[in-house]
Amino acid sequence: MRPYVPVRPFYLDWWPKLLAVALVLCFAACAPFTGRVLTPDQKYVEALTLFNSVYRTYLDEYDLASPATQAEWKAKIDPAMARASKALDLWGKALKGEGSPVTTERAFRLGLRVIAHLKLACEAATRKTGMRFVLEQTPAESAAYRLAKLDIEHFPERAESVVKGNLSLGEIYYTNSTFLNVSEPLSPIERVKKEGKFHDMIEAGALSHVWIADSRPDARSVASFVESTFTHTRNAQIAFSPEFTTCNTCLRVSRGLVDVCPHCNSTEVDGITRVTGYFSKVSGWNKGKHAELNDRYRSKVS
Ligand SMILES: [Zn+2]
Repeated sequence: MRPYVPVRPFYLDWWPKLLAVALVLCFAACAPFTGRVLTPDQKYVEALTLFNSVYRTYLDEYDLASPATQAEWKAKIDPAMARASKALDLWGKALKGEGSPVTTERAFRLGLRVIAHLKLACEAATRKTGMRFVLEQTPAESAAYRLAKLDIEHFPERAESVVKGNLSLGEIYYTNSTFLNVSEPLSPIERVKKEGKFHDMIEAGALSHVWIADSRPDARSVASFVESTFTHTRNAQIAFSPEFTTCNTCLRVSRGLVDVCPHCNSTEVDGITRVTGYFSKVSGWNKGKHAELNDRYRSKVS
């Protein structure tokens, strides 16, 4: 009887390994040229671009068309919208694990491109009409809340991953204008530097807030911060934004946002702080702005 000799599997030989390595190298070398190997990040941007272009065409053409043409358009556009929307969902989900999109470098660069695009649109409108169009930051007290609510209503799956605030309480908002995420724990100078990169493109006025809450930075620190901003950033303006509490019982004002008046212990108090551009009473704000206020990262100037 012959002794049992196990058959050596072919993949333990040298040639299949060499073949596998060669195939991997070949694939890697070809990838940049085929354009078929995209990161989820690139695919998301691609899907977003497709969605926006289809959507824009739809909006531009649809309203101007006759009812018969509108029906024809709808039949053509709807499937394209559905495909673009599906691709967007897919790659949006693939990106979900990456952390807050607003805090990533990719999102920051995308933000710069969006503002550059708007600036070019202004320049084109200026050339076309002979009237001067420029970009401006606005407080947008209600738009940041309203647009978030509309997106949750119409595009819940996509919007859930990007709106800020507390979704279960309906206290949601979008980060306004060219400001960075208000909850991001950035040092004041870092925030001013990053936000300043947008300011060259916003000719009608832009600023960055330094939310200092109830802190009282000394004059030398403030002066040094202003000097540093002037010397090292592209920032057009900065505002040191403290917060206050006004008492409806004793009518006195105290520093910081508190629930009880430090002068008379009354709880009949109201906060005074900046929405984005000016001081106002917190009791007059919408739910989205309340959520933004809770999320706001306060920093110290030192
Ligand atoms: Zn009081």
